[in-house]
This record gives sequence, structure tokens and C-alpha cells, in this order.
Amino acid sequence: MTDKPIKYLLNTHHHGDHTGGNQSLLASTEIVAHRNARANLVKNSMPGLPPITFSDEVSVNLGGKEVRARYFGAGHTNGDAVIYFPSHKIVHTGDLFVRGAAFIDYANGGSSDAWMKTIDGILSLDFETAIPGHGAVSKRQDLVEWKASFQKVRDRVRELTKQGKSKEEIASLLKVDDLPGWNMSPFFQKSLPGLYDEMARAR
Ligand SMILES: [Zn+2]
Repeated sequence: MTDKPIKYLLNTHHHGDHTGGNQSLLASTEIVAHRNARANLVKNSMPGLPPITFSDEVSVNLGGKEVRARYFGAGHTNGDAVIYFPSHKIVHTGDLFVRGAAFIDYANGGSSDAWMKTIDGILSLDFETAIPGHGAVSKRQDLVEWKASFQKVRDRVRELTKQGKSKEEIASLLKVDDLPGWNMSPFFQKSLPGLYDEMARAR
């Protein structure tokens, strides 16, 4: 937290609750996002387009400290940046990690298959603290456990598709409330048809 002018702003992805400040900061702040996040802002006619984009990695170095934005692949969307503060061993995951159920934004390139690999990418970084896109500041182990819950959800959906259940049926048959923090949130329910298709393909 600072009362000084904000020089740089890193967007973790295009969703409005993560880019809603762009427009009012554009005149005085360098705004950076993954190239797919910017493309999603354009596609969805959203305001506050970041002037600077990157594909794999970009760093801001100030006051002897580095802040690094990394792209490990798709997940929540196809443009999720992970913000790494190496000197503090902290990552900000954006919505690639939340304290709750996942939202897989298939309309904007999201994928649960890719998401699993992307979390492995995050875990390849040397960090102790993870700031999720929503929810309390967490530890590395919380991300490990959240990924395991996510994998269980994927396995359960795959199993339901194997049993021949329809897309409509899985919303009521799928059980997630035994997994820490998970529930049938509206955004998770919105992800289910796409997750069904993904898991049916992987069967
Ligand atoms: Zn989001």
C-alpha cells in the first residue's frame, strides 16, 4: 500500500473485477497484461486496454526489487499471468487459485486440462506465500491442496460422463462440498457444461 503515484499496473487477466481500474489509471500508469488478456478485453468490448503486452515473461525492476509476470499457459482463461515477487517468495496467482470453486471461462480460452499443468508451472517457482485472486492470503501447501481438490472434481465429472449421465444431470449429481472450500457457486455451475465436454473427450 502506498500514497505515491502508481507507476506500473499488472493485470492478471481480463475479467472486469481485475481490470476495472485500468481506465482511470491509464493516463498516469503503465499497464501490462498478457497478450491474450488484452485480446480478450478487445473481444469483449471492455475498456482500459493495456498498452503493453507480453507472451512468456516480463519484469518490472524498481528499487532493487524485481516483480515478474509469467505466463504458464491457459487455465481460468487463456491469458492468466502469475505475478512473482522473488525477493519476498510471494506469488499472486490471479484467479488461477481462489479460495472456493474454480471458474473455467471456456468462452475466453479457459481449460481445466491446461489449468493442471499451469498450476505445476506456478509450483515450479520458489515461493512460500500465495495471494489468490479471491480469498485470504495463503501458503504454498494451500495451492497444492486446492489443485488436488480440483483434480478430484475433474475425476468425478469424468466418471459421471462414463456412466452415461447427461450434461443436465451432472449439476445435481456432482458432489463437491466435501472438498475444502468448494461449493456449487454460480460461476462453477457456469463452467460445468464445458467441463463435461472436456472430460467426455478425455474418457
Ligand atoms: Zn477471473
